[in-house]
Amino acid sequence: MRLEANALSHRRFHDTSLLLGQIGVERHACPASCKFCSFSEGVFHDSRINVDIPTIVEMAKAFCATGEIKALFLMSMHDFDAPILCKLVEKVRGVIPEKTEIVFNIGDCPDAWWKEFKAAGVSGAYHVCRLREGIDSQLAPEDRKATIRAIRGNGLKWYYCCEPIGPEHTNEELADAILLGNELGCFQHAAMARVNFPGSPLAKYGEISKRRLAQVVAAVTLASEDNPELGSIAVHEPDFPGLCSGANSVYAECGFNPRDLETHTENGRGNSVAKMVSMLTEAGWRP
Ligand code: SF4
Repeated sequence: MRLEANALSHRRFHDTSLLLGQIGVERHACPASCKFCSFSEGVFHDSRINVDIPTIVEMAKAFCATGEIKALFLMSMHDFDAPILCKLVEKVRGVIPEKTEIVFNIGDCPDAWWKEFKAAGVSGAYHVCRLREGIDSQLAPEDRKATIRAIRGNGLKWYYCCEPIGPEHTNEELADAILLGNELGCFQHAAMARVNFPGSPLAKYGEISKRRLAQVVAAVTLASEDNPELGSIAVHEPDFPGLCSGANSVYAECGFNPRDLETHTENGRGNSVAKMVSMLTEAGWRP
């Protein structure tokens, strides 16, 4: 599966990759209470940090300085301040290369908001109906799908993922999640392993291996062959086996990250732009 998926993606994407970057812009106890997230209400006890526009603008400027990041993701929480994020987009737009797109990774919100985000300069959004949504989170699957339809309906690029995968998820659950992305027309498909944190209610299940993650990346790739919207396939967190099994996209990261105990993920799990360019190249992709 992995060999066939790798060959398919190299043909489909003409050996080219998509390097993306994400900045986590705020953190607080999140009412969505996802059991797989360290920012979840009930397990997050650190002090609240709101969006600090000058600091994030400086981070964005440094992060995108080489011009290698195709799209910069600004990641907030389930509940967020829309006017502040629009202001942030305006300021970030002024310091990053013109060709670098700005993408949101935020909570559910109505159609009208996406019109405003688009007008502010946002070109796409990462949004997912996660595995066991509504069981391992307090969010309704239909609300997640409604937001996805709003993103698509407003002509924004929709970034999706089969996530967060743990050993407890069955092949059938993964297949349903993978097919949903193609049915709704994702621009980016992906697979992501759950990263357990101390005190996580799901830690008892353990984590999947890199080999299993690569297998799911291959399943995503083969299942997405007929998706006409597809522009790339990602593996989260970035890893070499995934990039040799159909994925052609990875994310560099800085700022806040619920998968990381470090306050600033660039000092922890987050990968730098240079490291990601090197990983893509070693895996046989043209950055
Ligand atoms: S994954 Fe997102 S929505 Fe869920 S608790 Fe964490 S920040 Fe909130």
